[in-house]
Amino acid sequence: MKHVAIVGGGLAGLVAAIDLAKRGVPCTVFERKHYPFHRVCGEYISNEVIPYLQSLDAFPEKFSPPRFTRFQLTSVNGALAEIPLDLGGFGISRYSLDSFLVEKARAQGATVSDNTEVTALSFEGDGFDIQTAGKTVRADVVLGSFGKRSRLDVSLGRSFIKKRSPYVGVKYHIRTDHPADVIALHNFNDGYCGISRIEEGKTNLCYLTHRDNVKRYGHIPEMEKAVLHRNPFLKRIFAESEFLFDKPEVINEITFETKEPVYNHVLMTGDAAGMITPLCGNGMAMAIHSANVVSEYVHRFCVNPGYGRAQLEADYAARWNALFKKRLWAGRQIQNLFGREWTSNMAVQLARHVKPVAHFLMKKTHGQAF
Ligand SMILES: Cc1cc2nc3c(=O)[nH]c(=O)nc-3n(C[C@H](O)[C@H](O)[C@H](O)COP(=O)(O)OP(=O)(O)OC[C@H]3O[C@@H](n4cnc5c(N)ncnc54)[C@H](O)[C@@H]3O)c2cc1C
Repeated sequence: MKHVAIVGGGLAGLVAAIDLAKRGVPCTVFERKHYPFHRVCGEYISNEVIPYLQSLDAFPEKFSPPRFTRFQLTSVNGALAEIPLDLGGFGISRYSLDSFLVEKARAQGATVSDNTEVTALSFEGDGFDIQTAGKTVRADVVLGSFGKRSRLDVSLGRSFIKKRSPYVGVKYHIRTDHPADVIALHNFNDGYCGISRIEEGKTNLCYLTHRDNVKRYGHIPEMEKAVLHRNPFLKRIFAESEFLFDKPEVINEITFETKEPVYNHVLMTGDAAGMITPLCGNGMAMAIHSANVVSEYVHRFCVNPGYGRAQLEADYAARWNALFKKRLWAGRQIQNLFGREWTSNMAVQLARHVKPVAHFLMKKTHGQAF
């Protein structure tokens, strides 16, 4: 049997490991960090993933994740619209979800090697050499599930990595009186902030902004006071909540550039293939869905000698484009409506008075249950 190396143990990598191991394909996940750890993420997952996760016995039911049925949108100056969600979603911290998936992957027979950064990858003689700090290993197939931006993108020479990106992401876990069935999206100048419940009665507060906003005020707390608190909903949440981290989780250089689903024979999954703007709340579902699709094709490649590498790469790229390309494009267009006073007001008015438009936009950025 051929061996699959999965580079990056986030959602795409871990779910692909569970799926491949369940199909009997030997695989190893290499993850740079040590589990468990927090990540910057809104931690809202679209319900479209539930049937697939259940089929893998990997739905995190034991955490009793809160379920969301309502969406609240506020503009920079605090105008409010509320609409029911078509498909809805659930909330769970990445700290809990990723560790749960690691356990499931190991139980299925996959090897998960954390604290192991892949520093270089090369395709030689119908297989890959994978370099980590300690050694070089061989694999027949490599899944690139190393997220939105990795040092590996630099060593692979991918073109998107040469462009700087101005976006910064910040996340807290808080205790607050936010309703359990609501996902809220609050606009502020040059950014937006998602608020939704996760497990154990905690709430995720996560926002995306432009790095100039942080530069202008010097530090994150000063920027929050000067910019985010102008939205009365955010001001109340910041004033009345208990913040559970000593300091926020922060990431820079978040990029929504177009990428390649297959690059140098590496099959890219999740954000490594393309990242949807976070306001859509669909990045995790796309990462999980791409893991599902890639596992199907890789399994075929491993068991069927008549199904060659060229066909595998062409089939995966075509399916990835058919499923996700338009969603990424729609997400980029919708993001332009947010983070500005008059356009965010317009978005709220649209959501209030022309509900079919709001539902249409949601459909454009989400998939269907798979
Ligand atoms: C501010 C913000 C809010 C968001 N909110 C939501 C939301 O509410 N809902 C939603 O669905 N999506 C949201 N997203 C998007 C979502 O977080 C991502 O789409 C999702 O995490 C993608 O999963 P992934 O497996 O592709 O990447 P990741 O989960 O990022 O995993 C990639 C992994 O690869 C590892 N890695 C990187 N390089 C190497 C290497 N060289 N060797 C070994 N390991 C490596 C990293 O350490 C990491 O663990 C948000 C994103 C941002 C930035």
